[in-house]
Amino acid sequence: MTASTTTVTLSIAGLDPAGGAGLLADLKTMAAHGVHGVGVLTATTAQNTVGVKSFHPLPPEVVLAQLDALHEDLTIAAAKTGMLATGDIIDALADWLATNWRAPLVVDPVLVASSGHLLLEPDAIARLKAKLLPLATVVTPNLPEATELVGFPVETVEAMGEAARALHALGPRWVLVKGGHLPGDATDVLFDGREFHTFPGSRIAMETHGTGCTLSAALAALLGRGLSVVEAVTRAKAYVRETMTRAMRVGRGKPLLGHLP
Ligand code: PLP
Repeated sequence: MTASTTTVTLSIAGLDPAGGAGLLADLKTMAAHGVHGVGVLTATTAQNTVGVKSFHPLPPEVVLAQLDALHEDLTIAAAKTGMLATGDIIDALADWLATNWRAPLVVDPVLVASSGHLLLEPDAIARLKAKLLPLATVVTPNLPEATELVGFPVETVEAMGEAARALHALGPRWVLVKGGHLPGDATDVLFDGREFHTFPGSRIAMETHGTGCTLSAALAALLGRGLSVVEAVTRAKAYVRETMTRAMRVGRGKPLLGHLP
């Protein structure tokens, strides 16, 4: 018997022990897209489905040691970053990626949990913009994250376009501003520096958690499988939608996305 080869994609993210968001959700998402997910942990959080109680970042050298161990052995087709916790982790990671990384990179600029807990030190945002965004194939802010990153309110589809332009100027190849927080339909705006693509989406009345993590992990998996960015965004959005309609209640707080077969 010979073993088959499989596409490998990487999540660089935090641990939500309840599996609704972060690394555990990313690996389930990657498995659902037919790739083998590998994970580099940046921080542990103490959280459940109700909310985040605290977080504990790993030292940057521990993050880099995990990356080095994977990189010297595995061929990784694409990666995503999620919760990065500190400016020092961002600095170390961006330097490592600039030296070692050539494959697609999805940057989910995780700043605050939906329960309100900060997941990135406030003074790290400048480093995220200066060092990590220029390395991204796609950066995927939601409206509060886009607002924080561009410094003006992003609350309408027009403002999403302006935010996409402002973020594109920082260096990522594509910007996907996600409209899940819009008052009406959940329109997403994708921009490559020349053309805007809008992805209309009707709202699903379901307060789940982990949708941003799942979208960016699905994007990494699909880019790793060789899809174009437009096709990957289309399919990743459909996956998030499908898992929202299959949401599962596992605790007293928000339901989790239904990744189970
Ligand atoms: N915990 C971890 C480890 C995360 O990476 C994230 C989001 O990226 C969250 C919690 C927050 O998820 P949500 O805002 O969907 O509750």
